[in-house]
Amino acid sequence: MPSYTCTRCHKPIKDPTSVENGFGPACFTRLKKTIEEKQGVDPLLTFIHAEGDNPDIVLQRDNCGNACTNVRQYVARHSATGFDWGANNGGSDDLAYNILLHFGIKGRQLDNLYHRFQLDFLANISHAGGIIEATTINKWINEYAH
Ligand SMILES: [Zn+2]
Repeated sequence: MPSYTCTRCHKPIKDPTSVENGFGPACFTRLKKTIEEKQGVDPLLTFIHAEGDNPDIVLQRDNCGNACTNVRQYVARHSATGFDWGANNGGSDDLAYNILLHFGIKGRQLDNLYHRFQLDFLANISHAGGIIEATTINKWINEYAH
């Protein structure tokens, strides 16, 4: 049986909801509060589950035009209104940052790469959204992350 740990504090988590969220209850509440305070957007409502084990990044809009993705938002650095794409803006930079985090890029390397990722992948996606294949992202990471 696989074991899971909290993304924030790395303590073991067991109950299915926590495993799905990737955080223990306390850390999840804290994360949600932090993002909501910064953005007024509930990151839970804009999170969509990928079908099966599909690792590709899915970008789509809900009926209100909110940007919905299967990438969890852990960091809100540029935007006060949540993720975005199709424009060179803060929401796109935040999405780029969190996608690279999702693919295991961290620290200074992440700081150095995310804006470039935004320009290479997100700036040209149509407003309605699309899919970015994980293999394409991994290829890009192999090229730029040393
Ligand atoms: Zn935790």
